[in-house]
Amino acid sequence: MNTPVTPTTARVFCIANQKGGVGKTTTAINLAAGLAKLQQRVLLIDLDPQGNSTMGSGIDKSTLAHNLYQVLIGEATIQDAVVASESGGYDVLPSNRELSGAEIDLVGMDHRELQLKYALSKVELQYDFVLIDCPPTLSLLTLNGLAAAHGVIIPMQCEYFALEGLSDLVNTIKRVHRNINPDLSLIGLLRVMFDPRVTLQQQVSAQLEAHFGDKVFKTVVPRNVRLAEAPSHGMPGVVYDPTSRGAQAYIAFGAEVIERVRTVQK
Ligand code: ATP
Ligand code: MG
Repeated sequence: MNTPVTPTTARVFCIANQKGGVGKTTTAINLAAGLAKLQQRVLLIDLDPQGNSTMGSGIDKSTLAHNLYQVLIGEATIQDAVVASESGGYDVLPSNRELSGAEIDLVGMDHRELQLKYALSKVELQYDFVLIDCPPTLSLLTLNGLAAAHGVIIPMQCEYFALEGLSDLVNTIKRVHRNINPDLSLIGLLRVMFDPRVTLQQQVSAQLEAHFGDKVFKTVVPRNVRLAEAPSHGMPGVVYDPTSRGAQAYIAFGAEVIERVRTVQK
């Protein structure tokens, strides 16, 4: 297939799960870097006041000239706030704890759930993929992410309560699809921190496949200490140790995401 002549807008994906510590940020950073290695132009949006994907991309959250909070409340343009991740090979719309104030400041605004979408519309022609690292809540910030996105990628650990928590998120996606953003769909579930020696994890993984079929990505990300070490070096794991099993999995995941987008667009 020939490359299209007209510029296409970016595919915008939220990396979301309202459970904390399940691997959202690790997935966002490493998918961004994995896609960049595959010659894709990527913007990573840090929608979490913890600023973990900002720091993990090698950007100091305490010395930002501008950040996502200012963009959401109209004090800075998205072009002003975006910075390059030198280590990752992608762009970042960075955040820090100031962003927690946005929940309150946005409440009084018209179309408060659409502010991120409006901001993104100014740069989406410049990227192939925009990845949004969501906080571990179903808050107004997350709603801004879901309203701006075409799809949701859900990283999850194959643990006992995993399926239960999933139904809240899937219902939220359905509600946002119905009421705010008809473009939104579930792109897929990514099994992360997987340890095949644990029988329970194998069982939950099999249950996921039975319930969600094709929506479960083929790539499985193993538990791998190199992925956990990388942020303290300000680098994505796929750059810090490209030969590690965790890095290899995220590069394979990048290729699977590109393939899935192509299949949907055909
Ligand atoms: P939060 O809900 O607080 O935003 P999160 O869902 O973004 O958390 P991460 O910060 O990505 O989760 O991961 C939680 C912890 O698990 C981190 O210390 C991270 O380094 C580690 N971790 C993530 N994925 C892996 C993996 N595949 N192997 C080993 N450690 C991992
Ligand atoms: Mg996180």
